[in-house]
Amino acid sequence: MSVNYASGLSPYDHKGRCGLPEKFDSPDVLLEKLEQLVTLVKKSKHIVFHTGAGISTSAGIPDFRGPKGVWTLEEKGESPETSIRFESAKPTLTHMALVALERKGIAKYIVSQNIDGLHVRSGFPYNRLSELHGNMFVEECNKCGHKYIRQSCVPTMAKNLTGNSCKQSKARGTCRGKLVDTILDWEDSLPEEDLELAEEHSKKSDLSICLGTSLQIVPSGNIPLLTKKNKGKVVIVNLQPTKHDKKCDLKISTYVDDVMKYLCSALDIVIPTFICPSVSLYSIYSISVKTMVNTDADDILINNYTENFREYLSEMDSQNPDDIPKKKLKLEKEDDRDNALDSTITSNSKEDVKVELKYCITKKSSETNAKEVKEDEIDNKILLLSEKSHLSPALTLENDKDVDGIFNCIKEENNKEL
Ligand SMILES: [Zn+2]
Repeated sequence: MSVNYASGLSPYDHKGRCGLPEKFDSPDVLLEKLEQLVTLVKKSKHIVFHTGAGISTSAGIPDFRGPKGVWTLEEKGESPETSIRFESAKPTLTHMALVALERKGIAKYIVSQNIDGLHVRSGFPYNRLSELHGNMFVEECNKCGHKYIRQSCVPTMAKNLTGNSCKQSKARGTCRGKLVDTILDWEDSLPEEDLELAEEHSKKSDLSICLGTSLQIVPSGNIPLLTKKNKGKVVIVNLQPTKHDKKCDLKISTYVDDVMKYLCSALDIVIPTFICPSVSLYSIYSISVKTMVNTDADDILINNYTENFREYLSEMDSQNPDDIPKKKLKLEKEDDRDNALDSTITSNSKEDVKVELKYCITKKSSETNAKEVKEDEIDNKILLLSEKSHLSPALTLENDKDVDGIFNCIKEENNKEL
């Protein structure tokens, strides 16, 4: 499907201010602001990102209200020149940086207004994402609510019947509900569950970072302000003025990709390269240790390893973290020294040590269970399991099932985490 989908929605007169001029901070000012952003990120514990069309323009997808945006051009009776298809659009540096920040436990949640599906296809965990305006690649059952992520765009928009039916099994037979697309039309109400999670995470957050959105559409545009109620800070990165420039604590006017590149480099975080569209249902760090560890011989090994980490965590309780030496822990079998899993603890933060623990267990579990895992992808914490997906280890454990088939439990799991 072409990215100019304006014609698929109903006519609507209140599309906000379009075509406002873009501004760039001067190099000195920009550097100072970027440093402020890095400091804020380092200080914060629950960071929520709010993303808009501006993060996908470098993928060739036009925004809505920028100088060449869909609605800006529509006002002039024109349409965007680009002919890129959603299926061939690749996640941008910003999308991949967000994947990396989540894997480090820094980005706790994304609230997105984008319908291009790039967050999901970049491998950002679906249970850490609210897509408030829908997703071109997702259709859902009008009877049981089960969602299906497709490899290509769903043929309809504005919550219409797609022509497919639900194949979920029920106590008696199959659901057979009709599937509808998830793309909202003007004035449609937002998906309840996604909205609730977006608000809960934003209320809980101490830092909201808005990327590439003019924050004009309500309620999505007002959600970042919930952070303020918790005495948190709001940062806006956008080229055009936004509705909340006066209320935010920091406004950065430059390309989002440049900001994310600077941020990741300052935090010493490597941004993974996009390999192929993938779906990651769960955050690596949100899965309980019990779920991750399989009942085979490696159990004992992993348990010992876990014990070492736990000991280390209790040392942290009893001493000043600064006095505790960093540790190198090794997960190895007597007969398998070459394939031992090394982990050097590099942080004195308890949170970081826990993240490291989960990551190591995840990695080891994945190595022992996944059939088609390639070594170099493990290094990138990306598991390439099939042609269509680099999936999270949560999915690795169920890799005999299709993405569509294990979708229903996601939101339940997500609610448990909050
Ligand atoms: Zn159904």
